[in-house]
Amino acid sequence: MNPTQAQLDACVTCGLCLPHCPTFRLTGDEVASPRGRIAAMGAIATGALPSDETYAEMMSFCLGCLACEAACPSLIPYGEMLVGAREQLAKDQPSLAGRLRRLLAGRILNMKWLLALVTSGIGILQKLRVVGFLPKRLRLMRGLRPLRVFPHSVLGVRDHTPAEPAGSVALLAGCVMDEWFPEVHDATRGVLQMAGFQVHSPERQQCCGALAAHEGAGEEARRMAQRNVSAFSGYDYVVADAAGCSAHLKEYNQWAEGGESVAERARDVTEFVAALIDRGLLPTFAEARGPVAMQDPCHLRHGQRITAAPRRLVRAAGYTPVEIDQDGLCCGAAGLYMVYEHETADELGASKAAEIQATGLTTVVSANPGCEIQLRSHLGKGYRIVHPIELYWESLS
Ligand code: SF4
Ligand code: SF4
Repeated sequence: MNPTQAQLDACVTCGLCLPHCPTFRLTGDEVASPRGRIAAMGAIATGALPSDETYAEMMSFCLGCLACEAACPSLIPYGEMLVGAREQLAKDQPSLAGRLRRLLAGRILNMKWLLALVTSGIGILQKLRVVGFLPKRLRLMRGLRPLRVFPHSVLGVRDHTPAEPAGSVALLAGCVMDEWFPEVHDATRGVLQMAGFQVHSPERQQCCGALAAHEGAGEEARRMAQRNVSAFSGYDYVVADAAGCSAHLKEYNQWAEGGESVAERARDVTEFVAALIDRGLLPTFAEARGPVAMQDPCHLRHGQRITAAPRRLVRAAGYTPVEIDQDGLCCGAAGLYMVYEHETADELGASKAAEIQATGLTTVVSANPGCEIQLRSHLGKGYRIVHPIELYWESLS
């Protein structure tokens, strides 16, 4: 729904967000800036401008990276305003492309069997080395396991109960996370078990709904959130190992009845494990394993203001974090953005890759699947993109 007048009025048009906005930096155009977008939302709300294709393009060009929200002295809830505006646009401007995106984000990615089937197909092609015709982003995916339609989901997995558990954790399986990054789930479970937690990935859960929300598929996002509120009841914590998902779980109070119960218990795995390390419940390793490049996913850095935790894990694993971008500019992945706004996504991805290449490092740490796919696609072979929890788990094991 369109942003409220109070949200719109919070923008004092100071422009402090502009240098932090990737689309403004690329174009220098006010309409591609947070201030311009907020002004357009205001004009739509008062009826001064029509909710037309130009407005739809303006909103669609935004990455939703939240760098503006983090920079804004008026604490403007830009992310909430953007998803509201996009949901309204889905009703006012139901284009075919928009419908397809909402179908993908709101339905298809939540169909486990279909995702498993596609994953197996790509896995078989990877094994046969017949991947030339696939889009670059899929061609360079980590090796996917073929023929894994039946097993290999973390869904339903309940780890052994320690004699005196430190607490219970519901692990969010996610959509692509469960199919394409099972090693990250394995590492998360392994580390949490080692700290004495009982880890369970309840079967009734759904995709968190973040992609659906960002694409304006509000109804589907609310439906998924509501189911997850019930699936995650009774656990001490709800942990996600994808930054986009943990950020969305923390906003469940806006998406489901009783959603605040999930929002309060939701943790990104990096912050959860860093706190356990700080409390001495998990070890650190003194062995020097060398430098690694740090890439901050927007929904960790700007959305949750978490930057120290992934570095804590990297240091605890014996590696030295090396900064690549002080501004934490978006890599261009931004959910489905890298598919439908691929030119801008490629420009941002290439610039992020150049920053990494300039360091001479070949291991890059990133805590979000979209960023990993984007970095793989722009860095190519010879680079390892890894979640901080995987690095830490490797050290433990
Ligand atoms: S920094 Fe905040 S108040 Fe200033 S122009 Fe940007 S959104 Fe508006
Ligand atoms: S979310 Fe990112 S791309 Fe969109 S206006 Fe804010 S800074 Fe710019």
